[in-house]
Parts: sequence; C-alpha cells; structure tokens
Amino acid sequence: MTVPSFVLLGTAPGGARRGRLLTAHGPVETPAFMPVATHGSVKGVTPAQLAELGAGMILSNAYHLAQRPGVDVVRALGGVHGLLGWPGPILTDSGGYQIFSLTGLVKVVDDGVHFRSHVDGSKGFLRPEDVIRVQEDLGVDVAMSLDECVAGDAGPARVAAALARTTAWAARGLAARRRPDMALFGIVQGGFDVARRAESAADLVGLGFDGYAVGGLSVGEPPEETRRIAAASARLLPPDRPRYLMGMGTPRDLLTSVGMGYDLFDCVLPTRNGRNGMLFTRDGKLMIRNARHAQDGAPVDPACTCYTCRHFSRGALRHLAMAKEMLGAQLATLHNLHFYLELMRTIRADLDAGTFPTRSVAAAGAWAS
Ligand SMILES: [Zn+2]
Repeated sequence: MTVPSFVLLGTAPGGARRGRLLTAHGPVETPAFMPVATHGSVKGVTPAQLAELGAGMILSNAYHLAQRPGVDVVRALGGVHGLLGWPGPILTDSGGYQIFSLTGLVKVVDDGVHFRSHVDGSKGFLRPEDVIRVQEDLGVDVAMSLDECVAGDAGPARVAAALARTTAWAARGLAARRRPDMALFGIVQGGFDVARRAESAADLVGLGFDGYAVGGLSVGEPPEETRRIAAASARLLPPDRPRYLMGMGTPRDLLTSVGMGYDLFDCVLPTRNGRNGMLFTRDGKLMIRNARHAQDGAPVDPACTCYTCRHFSRGALRHLAMAKEMLGAQLATLHNLHFYLELMRTIRADLDAGTFPTRSVAAAGAWAS
C-alpha cells in the first residue's frame, strides 16, 4: 500500500465510517482524535505517555513552529518528529487560522497574507506555496492548505471573496507540492451558507486532495448551526478520502460528528480544561478545585483505567491544583486525554461490531446528551 492513502474499512448505515489513514510514520485508525501540540508539545505530557494513552496522530501548527523555533532549527533537530520526540504520524495546521486570530496587521491580498509575528513583532508575508514548503521542510505527515478565515459574522460578499481566494490558494499549494509522501488536505470554507459550502467542496474535490478538512466552524455560532453546516459539508465530500472536522470539540461533538461521517478531530478542550482543573467523566464535568473534594479518597472515576485514577485520589488532585503544582495539571491532562482517546477506541470498536452508537453513547455518559 502506498503512503499516504486512506482505506475505508466500513460505513455504518447512518454514515459513520471506520477507516485507516496510512502515513509515512505509520497508520492512524479512524475515527481518531488528535491531541494538540500547537507549539511542539502536548502540554505536560511525554511522548511515552501519549503512546500509552493510545494516541494515533498528533496535531501541531506550522505557523507557530515556523515562528519559533524556526524551520531551519526544526530541520537541524530532526524535523517535526525529532522536535516533538514523537515517532508516529503528525498533522500540522497551516496556521491560517492562527495568523488571522493571533497576529496584528493582517492584510490579505490575492498573492498571500501580510502579518506581524506574534513572537517578535516582525512583518511577514506568506504565500500558499510557502505554507506547503514550510510543512514539507518540517517533515509533517499530513499538511493543510492555506485558507482565508473570516469572522463568524462576516457578510455574504466577504464570505464569497474568502472562498474564492481559499480555492485559488488550495490550487497553488497543490501545484507547489514536492513531497509525494506528505498528504495534503484542502479546507472547505463557505461560512454558514450550504450553497457556498457546496461550491467550495466541489472546487476542492475537483482539484483532488488526499483528504478534506471542514473549517470555519465553532467560531461563535449557535451549536445547531455548527451541526447543520458540518452535516451538510460531510455529504459533499468523496467517501474514499479522509474527512477532518477542525477544532471539534466536546465528547458529544465527537459522537455526533462521527455519526455524520467525519474521521479526524482535534480540540484543546481535554488538555486546556485539564490544566484549569476541569475533568471529563461519564457523569459530566468534575471541577477538581471544588471544596467538596478536599477529603475525598476516591479516584476521579473508579472505573477509569488511566494512570491518574489508578494512583491519585480526588483529594490529592485538588491539593495539587490548589497548590499550583505542575503535576496536578499533568495528571488532569492525562485523565482527560484518556477519556477522549478511550471514547474514540470505543467508537471504533462499536463501528467494527456494527453496534455504533450504542456502546459509544454509554462510554460518553452524561456527555452524550
Ligand atoms: Zn482517569
């Protein structure tokens, strides 16, 4: 089997898919959740722990790594796999979203994006070809095209202009690709108008990408809008290519989106919320700083098999959080990632057994409703 390629192993009657994405650094069983390592690390978690948690592919960010430590430094350190210390598959977002959300002085022209670095304030200009070259030089397994992101409340003319530019940039990025072992995904945009989404998807599918991402969602719109556009967008994509729903989401979002036929997901919720003392359990949110946990000798979840639940009580975790010990944040992150990755394992087993979503809904518990 050549890499990169996608093997669709089965499709449930409702559209949920079980697949396998083959990359130069190994296979990714899908549906898969990617822990987020924006700056080159999943905060507080070692690669050995990620492997033990059963992570498949890790998500990093090409824009951030290009700004700091810089592409030449990453190359000198053995590429993105050397920097992260992760031998498995790595996907990078192009950083388009970060350029639009983090940096000042963004000016978009047809040739690319003018921006000011959020690290040192220097002016930069990125063309869609540069974004592909950076990801190739970093040595990533799955790269994303540069897309133009617009605000959730952008008007129709603005959405249409960004859409046209995103398609033109996708074509230029594809033409600039040199590394055949790196998968390249196009990103469907088009705001909250299904006709625009259809136009975007048709243009990108016509160009022929290794996979397709759906972007521009979870930007402040009501959840039912997110679901409406996500469901419509999934139906516009070819069945033989992986589908990545960017930046989603809660355990419920994962269940719902798998049901729509998406294969890849990422979200900062399990890691960021863990650092802030919010733990995911089948009973819902557990706020570990709450005083009622102070003398509680029980684990976060007695049924959880993660390292944290096997070795630490709620009371101990609360103490670590209150004392701002870094171990507290690390243990909470481990538990939350375990919750997410275990849910994805259950979803895949459910799909293999033809029982989706029965077992998955049970595994998500309170998060399923
Ligand atoms: Zn646990």
